[in-house]
Amino acid sequence: MTGSVPATAASPRICPNCDGFATAAVSSGNRDASGQLPTFAVDCPACHGAGTLPASVAQLAGGRA
Ligand SMILES: [Zn+2]
Repeated sequence: MTGSVPATAASPRICPNCDGFATAAVSSGNRDASGQLPTFAVDCPACHGAGTLPASVAQLAGGRA
């Protein structure tokens, strides 16, 4: 009998700011000389690209901005 590991209060939660999509590809809006649309990755400012937050932080970040 193995049993399951219960979730603890300290378990990380999906970041409410980005819903787990911590890194977004953002285009600069201007195509370069070869016709490509350059994109760059921007990390979520709340979780810094982690996608999850400690429960205590998630509560603080969950309020309306
Ligand atoms: Zn985030």
